[in-house]
Amino acid sequence: MSALTGELLGCGRTSRRPSVWVMRFASVADRLVAAHGVPALGNFRDPVREIFYILLSAKTTDNQYRRTFQALTARFPSLSDLARAEVADILSCIASGGLANKKASQIQRAAAALIAAGGPKPGRRLRKMAPAEVFAFLTRLPGVGPKSALCVMMYSLDADVFPVDVNVQRIAARMGAIPQGLKHYQAQQQLPPLIPAGRSRELHIAMVVHGRTTCLPRKPRCASCGIVEFCRYGRRATGAQGERDG
Ligand code: SF4
Repeated sequence: MSALTGELLGCGRTSRRPSVWVMRFASVADRLVAAHGVPALGNFRDPVREIFYILLSAKTTDNQYRRTFQALTARFPSLSDLARAEVADILSCIASGGLANKKASQIQRAAAALIAAGGPKPGRRLRKMAPAEVFAFLTRLPGVGPKSALCVMMYSLDADVFPVDVNVQRIAARMGAIPQGLKHYQAQQQLPPLIPAGRSRELHIAMVVHGRTTCLPRKPRCASCGIVEFCRYGRRATGAQGERDG
């Protein structure tokens, strides 16, 4: 299982049988990676850029936050520029994205906090920290919650951690791996113990792509889904045979 996420979040309790679901998610990872690959989703190897990219993504469409990120980095090329910026100037770059007022303030304060902790190149310091230390540091930054911190660790620091986004939660709930209707923090707590070790990144990305292309929020395309046999919702919708819930 994805033990590091469990350690960081203090999770591990689930009503499901972990061993069954770990094997099931290994098969799901095989199928989804074969179907979708592990495409780049625009994330960054530089953890500092990734922090701001993810911060801008909250409550905003993909195209919008990519645009606002480009506008922000064009206007403020360095972290020092961002830390010294007026919040109003940051706001003028990101106003077309969601929650812009809140994010502008968070971005300026996060930039200042990063410089205070690690100088103008805090990414180097982040790479040297132990996972628990990185997680604690990231979640103290304005606007960076546990899921965002896990994303930065997974995408930029090669940590075997499993962030749960809206696509991942929807698919896992339809599969029957977690209950329907959980709050996000509950899903983030309950899912990592069911994820096979070493496969967090590829499975997360493949599930994000699957949620965007096949397991759509309103009308999932179960008839053409490659993991229907592992999915309670899909078996009911299509009459397909498959593994019973564990
Ligand atoms: S079978 Fe349907 S509900 Fe299940 S993962 Fe596939 S598309 Fe989603």
